Amino acid sequence: MTIRLAIVVPCFNEEEVLPETSQRLLSMLTGLQDRQLASTDSSIHFVDDGSKDGTWAMIESLAAVDVRVHGIKLSRNRGHQPALLAGLLSVQGDAVVSIDADLQDDVSVIEAMVQAFAAGAEVVYGVRDSRQTDSAFKRNTALMYYGLMRKLGVDLVHNHADFRLLGRRAVEALRQYGEVNMFLRGIVPLIGFRAATVRYDRAERFAGVSKYPLRKMLTFAIEGITSFSIVPLRMITLLGFIVSGLSFAMIVFIIYGTLVLRAAIPGWASSVVPIYFLGGIQLLSIGILGEYVAKIYLETKQRPRYVIEKSL
Ligand code: UDP
Ligand code: MG
Repeated sequence: MTIRLAIVVPCFNEEEVLPETSQRLLSMLTGLQDRQLASTDSSIHFVDDGSKDGTWAMIESLAAVDVRVHGIKLSRNRGHQPALLAGLLSVQGDAVVSIDADLQDDVSVIEAMVQAFAAGAEVVYGVRDSRQTDSAFKRNTALMYYGLMRKLGVDLVHNHADFRLLGRRAVEALRQYGEVNMFLRGIVPLIGFRAATVRYDRAERFAGVSKYPLRKMLTFAIEGITSFSIVPLRMITLLGFIVSGLSFAMIVFIIYGTLVLRAAIPGWASSVVPIYFLGGIQLLSIGILGEYVAKIYLETKQRPRYVIEKSL
């Protein structure tokens, strides 16, 4: 079965790796085409996510050399997920593979993905076998995060990032999800269809530095939780019940102490401590509420998720 394959690569300041990425993807694609697994009109699309360096110029020159290379330039930096989405929703083909520009994901397993698609899977997840090449910090925080997400009831594929194949039907289903804050790892399992996984070893970034500093990672993590789970909201209610229950017991105890035991009026500790305690809980609760309100605020505006400046 020959399929028309499109590969989408989000790029933010990736001029150092792009020539190598493009060369590896092209030779892999040539291999697929030679064996009639991919059609001749298969393509590679680099999405320039508002890079500040020479990424776009690089994409232009790569596109000039090989007709299979295309570029999509976003009007400004929007982040990995919107860039990916812009690519996924703009390209044509029977199947679309998304892969990072830094060559951390194994290009050669795209063939296994295509084969799984040919065998009937509509979604094929790339799952990394080991995270040896990520820093211990990144590995552990990621592990904890996946565990937390599972507990909060969000269905994520373990150790799967955004290296995956989506069939045309899956992409069209994805198009119907209008949310502005796209967390693709959470959305794709919601789409349904038959899914398969292929395993690979995650490599070191080929060149350049991670475009995901701690700050962005935290934003991404909070985004993932609040976009999919209302458990934190429920926890506030639960916490409210517990604290009010305890306070009520305390009141009863104080009345009993004053009237029956004729003990001294409780000192400042019992009046000051609750002030701090409740103040803390209230601030925390308001913070969590604010997180969701902010989400509603952003979603109701229905702003475009990305703006394409030009494409090649
Ligand atoms: N990326 C992007 N926009 C951003 C940040 C990152 O398009 O604002 C791209 C980046 O070029 C890369 C992919 O997203 O292709 C993953 O980023 P990176 O490898 O830096 O993240 P890490 O692997 O360290 O989590
Ligand atoms: Mg990376």
